[in-house]
Amino acid sequence: MDNNCLFCRIVAGEIPATVVHETATTLAFRDIDPKAAVHVLVIPKEHHPDVVALATNDPAGSADLLAAAAAVAEAEGLRTDGFRLLFNTGAYAGQEVFHVHAHLLGGEPLGPMLAIR
Ligand code: AMP
Repeated sequence: MDNNCLFCRIVAGEIPATVVHETATTLAFRDIDPKAAVHVLVIPKEHHPDVVALATNDPAGSADLLAAAAAVAEAEGLRTDGFRLLFNTGAYAGQEVFHVHAHLLGGEPLGPMLAIR
């Protein structure tokens, strides 16, 4: 655990979150500032700063994270109409929290993936 990391502190129960799914290695909770009708963050409990670090250092954890995201998508009823799963990584993507997290977005039409150029 990194004591300076917001999401590590959520995993530790030091900061409250609306948890929707938990496994031995992952936690999923509602985003505090939702960008869609359903907006859940899915994280590994172990600290990895971004998806590259997770994939490189913990392939099994990467698979766990994907399985957890799929389970939440099913549980939230997103499978039929679809959803978006994304990892903001680094400055160009505007990553704000450096504990890898998948954004699971859905529950309504999400529009184009990026602004029209
Ligand atoms: P990113 O920009 O990809 O790093 O996304 C960070 C996300 O964390 C944003 O969507 C925030 O709204 C969300 N967030 C920040 N603090 C909290 C919190 N305490 N509980 C839940 N979500 C949070």
